[in-house]
Amino acid sequence: MAFAYLKEGLNARQRDGLLRQRRVIDASVGAMIEVEGQHFLSFSGNDYLGQRQDLAVMQAWVEGVSDYGVGSGASPLVTGHTQAHQQLEDYLATGLKREAALLFNSGFAANQAVCQALANPQLCILSDKLMHASFVEAGKHCEAKFKRFRHNDVSHLSNLLAANQSSDLSSSVQDNLIVTEGVFSMDGDLGKIAELNTVAQQHDAWLMVDDAHGMGVLGETGLGSVEHFNLSQTQVPILMGTFGKGIGTSGAFVAGSQVLIDYLINFAKHYVYSTAMPPAMALATYASFQSLADGTKQQALTQRIAQFRSLCQQKGIPLTDSNTAIQPIVVGDPVKCVKISDDLKRLGLWVTAIRYPTVPKGTDRLRITLSASHRTTDIDAFVDGLQMVLKRYQVLSNE
Ligand SMILES: *Cc1c(COP(=O)(O)O)cnc(C)c1O
Repeated sequence: MAFAYLKEGLNARQRDGLLRQRRVIDASVGAMIEVEGQHFLSFSGNDYLGQRQDLAVMQAWVEGVSDYGVGSGASPLVTGHTQAHQQLEDYLATGLKREAALLFNSGFAANQAVCQALANPQLCILSDKLMHASFVEAGKHCEAKFKRFRHNDVSHLSNLLAANQSSDLSSSVQDNLIVTEGVFSMDGDLGKIAELNTVAQQHDAWLMVDDAHGMGVLGETGLGSVEHFNLSQTQVPILMGTFGKGIGTSGAFVAGSQVLIDYLINFAKHYVYSTAMPPAMALATYASFQSLADGTKQQALTQRIAQFRSLCQQKGIPLTDSNTAIQPIVVGDPVKCVKISDDLKRLGLWVTAIRYPTVPKGTDRLRITLSASHRTTDIDAFVDGLQMVLKRYQVLSNE
């Protein structure tokens, strides 16, 4: 039978407890979601600062619609690049101390674009093992060589770079691109950007940072890891950030030298052949950065994280050493993980089970995310529920 592998693939996933299904969200206000008539307190979103429903951000979007209409009407090189887009690019370039920035419709597209546009057989991309799928998929399938170093393991990276310099097989490598994340999406720990930068300089390599989970959250004005660690364009020549998480809108950018941006404008097919993001969304994104610039919401998030961690420690709930909004509880078994998630739902608490292949085999987890839109009483109630359910499945550490 033609295309029999579709059904077979699904059956295999079902058998392994790995079949994925969507849920329709009927309503969503702050951290509350409504699904099939029931209300849940959600600990699964990436809206870390509540910007998705910030009044000023929503207002900017509405005003943008009245000024520009709902869509951009064309790709950026035709007539889709408006003053609204330019203003956001200028804000990012200036704030991040980069020569230029370029908007993309998604972080997925931006990562694909960087790999596709920069790739050639003399380039070797060296990626942290835990890089997001949007990067890994592009790196694997582009023209460049693609290697992965163990998570945050700088000496493993050095070995790979040394091999590129010496071995006959790889003698064709002329350029090396090292890639990491600012805040790792499934673990919440930080990429070792400073150490990686030292190694990059030693080997005349470039360092790229995907800061999807640092944007909005880190940095004095919410401009992410690069602002937080004060990293120059020379230290991080390619910076990618997204707007769909802490910024609360959607889309992404790449920032770096004028040459890099001009090159992407000319050679990145995901940029050239795609309708520009809606101008209203660019305005809303700009407004979101403005509203985060004083750091108030980030402070609220920091308090929620501290509260959550200290309550979990008291109750023997096993945490990782993440200090960000992403607080995973590693369960290690996909079926058990889903059962825990289902039991939490019965208590009105929504935490999605994240399973292989999104995370490595045997590290299936509850990916808990905290937000400035959680109230302190929400965190209290959540940790109580968590303790109750984890006890049932013997996941508590002090028993
Ligand atoms: C979410 C995410 C992306 C993709 O960004 P989208 O704008 O959602 O397409 C890329 N990289 C990382 C690390 C992410 O977490």
